[in-house]
Amino acid sequence: MESTTRSRTILVVGGGISGITTAVEAAEAGHDVVLVEKSPTLGGRVAQLNRYFPKLCHPTCGLEINFQRIKKSRRIKVFTMATVAAVKGGAGGYTVTVKTSPRHVKPNCTACGDCGRAATSEIANPFNYNMDKVKAAYLPHTMAFPMRYVIDGSVAGTPEGEAIKAACKIGAVDLDEKEETFDVEVGAVVWATGWRPYPAEKLTAYRYDLPNVITNVEMERLASPDGPTKGKILRPSDGQAPKKIALIQCAGSRDLNHLAYCSRICCLASMKHAAYVREQLADAVVDVYYIDLRAHDKLESFLLRVKDDPQVRFVKSKPARIDPGAGDNPILCGENTLTREVYAEPYDLVVLATGMQPSTAEGDMPAFDGDLDDYGFIFPEGETISAGVAAGPLDVSMSVQSATAAALKAIRATMA
Ligand SMILES: Cc1cc2nc3c(=O)[nH]c(=O)nc-3n(C[C@H](O)[C@H](O)[C@H](O)COP(=O)(O)OP(=O)(O)OC[C@H]3O[C@@H](n4cnc5c(N)ncnc54)[C@H](O)[C@@H]3O)c2cc1C
Repeated sequence: MESTTRSRTILVVGGGISGITTAVEAAEAGHDVVLVEKSPTLGGRVAQLNRYFPKLCHPTCGLEINFQRIKKSRRIKVFTMATVAAVKGGAGGYTVTVKTSPRHVKPNCTACGDCGRAATSEIANPFNYNMDKVKAAYLPHTMAFPMRYVIDGSVAGTPEGEAIKAACKIGAVDLDEKEETFDVEVGAVVWATGWRPYPAEKLTAYRYDLPNVITNVEMERLASPDGPTKGKILRPSDGQAPKKIALIQCAGSRDLNHLAYCSRICCLASMKHAAYVREQLADAVVDVYYIDLRAHDKLESFLLRVKDDPQVRFVKSKPARIDPGAGDNPILCGENTLTREVYAEPYDLVVLATGMQPSTAEGDMPAFDGDLDDYGFIFPEGETISAGVAAGPLDVSMSVQSATAAALKAIRATMA
């Protein structure tokens, strides 16, 4: 049944930098906001970056300020481990069904870590793109907001689960917690559901199954102090520091078989990766394989700065394939389109610059019925209100601008 009452409350779906921005801007303009995030913490993909281009500052700077704004606001209600199951109604009066998954840890958790110490089993760590493991009772990451543990459902009903529960002195563990649904009445819905990395396993010629072929998002985690190698850039196969590294641009992007569009940020992200390597490994050389290099807006100077480094070399070529080589060294094969030289070049580590695919491509947004463009991004000119990368590839500053505009559109929709 459609809601008949008008509401000034705004629902924001997705708690990345875009959703957070829309939420705080709308709340500070006097609207109540319900912020729904499917993972256990806010921050989205930005929280998983090591540094931001072009200044190479830490993303927690940008996130922490917004977390403080959320904490201080009495208007924003955050639901983590939550998604939208159904949306009914129309502009000014929606009834939205929110579905929450069990965290098995109550809000009174102080993040003391006793549950983690009591846990014995381990699960793949999604925050580090499964490159390492965490205990079955874990804090999602060191800067998590909310700063609250999660207990994996696999330990419920086991002796390990009982030991974890007994270890919590304040009774914050609830292994009986179940999935729940509830309705909220809102006047506008903003979709800020962001992106996921294009699955590198689909790029069969680039042999992501080889241990020393990784993706750009994995490189961010390798370089991060709270990543799987504590910030040291090391080869996954043997834990050695790589001396010769290849960065492959447009891995799957601008390719009709994969992502037909340019993700806008990958060239600059790779410049950042070259900078990470050169900061840590003085002798290392980095070869960037590219079709053409794209630095948007005022970020050309960052590209030029990295180009100035003689140990960062540029090869105009889209590699044809990667072959396995001796000593777990992947061999890049292709043709240099400037010199016509055919190469078969071994590397210690290869990084695939995979693009951004809309979260809508996951098919896990059954409640979404707005218009999508040819690539699956939310059509920004339609009635649906979107923020950030949900509507197309953007960097963080552009996402924040789009999110602020989305807050204004949502406010207007509640008044329509
Ligand atoms: C390798 C790489 C490096 C980058 N480096 C930089 C950089 O240095 N500087 C820069 O400016 N930009 C960089 N970017 C771009 C940056 O990551 C994006 O601009 C930013 O993530 C956009 O934020 P967002 O909130 O729109 O999306 P996201 O960060 O994807 O956040 C979306 C949020 O929505 C949640 N969500 C998804 N679906 C649902 C659902 N159905 N229900 C509830 N919640 C949901 C997700 O869990 C997530 O928390 C980089 C990108 C890549 C690929």
